Amino acid sequence: MRLADYTTIRLGGPARDFVPAGTEEHLIEAVGAADARGEPLLILGGGSNLVVADEGFDGTVVQVATRGVRHGAEPGTVTVAAGEDWDGVVARTIAAGLAGLECLSGIPGLAGATPIQNVGAYGQEVCETITQVRAYDRDARRVRTLASQECGFGYRTSRFKRDEARRLVVLSVTFRLAAEPLSAPVRYAELAAALGIEIGDQVPAEQARAAVIELRKRKGMVIDPADPDTRSVGSFFVNPVLDAAALRAVEAAARARCGAGTTVPRFGAGDGLVKVPAAWLIERAGFGKGYSQGDGARISSKHTLALVNPGSATTAGLMALAREIRDGVRDAFGVSLTPEPVLVGVTL
Ligand SMILES: Cc1cc2nc3c(=O)[nH]c(=O)nc-3n(C[C@H](O)[C@H](O)[C@H](O)COP(=O)(O)OP(=O)(O)OC[C@H]3O[C@@H](n4cnc5c(N)ncnc54)[C@H](O)[C@@H]3O)c2cc1C
Repeated sequence: MRLADYTTIRLGGPARDFVPAGTEEHLIEAVGAADARGEPLLILGGGSNLVVADEGFDGTVVQVATRGVRHGAEPGTVTVAAGEDWDGVVARTIAAGLAGLECLSGIPGLAGATPIQNVGAYGQEVCETITQVRAYDRDARRVRTLASQECGFGYRTSRFKRDEARRLVVLSVTFRLAAEPLSAPVRYAELAAALGIEIGDQVPAEQARAAVIELRKRKGMVIDPADPDTRSVGSFFVNPVLDAAALRAVEAAARARCGAGTTVPRFGAGDGLVKVPAAWLIERAGFGKGYSQGDGARISSKHTLALVNPGSATTAGLMALAREIRDGVRDAFGVSLTPEPVLVGVTL
């Protein structure tokens, strides 16, 4: 059982044990049994944010395969089982006349993984609409319900992703969506331009979804088995968040490297901090689209932030490429990029 068959980047060696869990009871039982044996455990969703070592995983992999979507009594409240396909959930809610998830269209993986790194795209984050998460607590050996405020959501992170909290296995996620057919106000300039509207305007949620999917396809960010540029984990690095002093240092390095008139792009990240696009830093450090060390893993030809396996890559080769990029950006700009995916059996 090679985990490469269960990851979107098609990498990863064998698992010692592999248990598909189609019901909540079975999921909890499989997790509890692995814990009782003292075995390493890996919860597997759609495998779209996982980089697994070529040596594989010497423990039990429990694959989340639960199903169910339930509309609550309050209008716009929807509870989704962890194993539901995420993009299917987005499509269904829009078809039901609910808005709030449309900008998260086309993101691969399962609903239960969306709180893990607080998935986000095109100006929306899933934490904005999550009201609660039901999870199995491996330490307390019981099911708990966490309100959104207890989930520790941040930029591409949450308490579920931080190490101390790998103990929580997400069982279901409840969303509170707007019971109206119009999208949330569009906040992302590229999406607004594609829709021909101003920032803050609304369009039918279905139209926003279609535009997001179209933009994502152009960047290789919608899985297409025929397109090797989509054989990735999405963005490999998170956009660095810098304070004013760090930004000044990056600006000075950018002017020295790329010319006096160079402007470093940035987005406000609150509290006087800014987010600088990692893709911009990577390109200016000399790693363009398609860049490769020659052993297979390469930068996507459509998006600098995605590292892809065109078919012949190994996880070792992928990580060597990631290290080369991280070191190159650090040498050029003094910024240390951190990986976005969960690394299993490998380090950057
Ligand atoms: C082409 C492409 C585009 C992408 N675009 C985006 C994007 O725009 N925005 C974005 O935020 N992400 C993006 N991603 C990353 C990824 O799709 C998301 O992080 C997604 O939510 C991962 O879901 P998954 O089910 O595949 O999780 P997996 O990869 O299977 O797991 C990821 C982590 O979550 C844990 N996990 C999974 N399910 C559970 C559970 N039920 N309980 C506890 N832990 C669990 C796993 O153990 C692992 O640590 C993209 C990925 C790809 C391949």
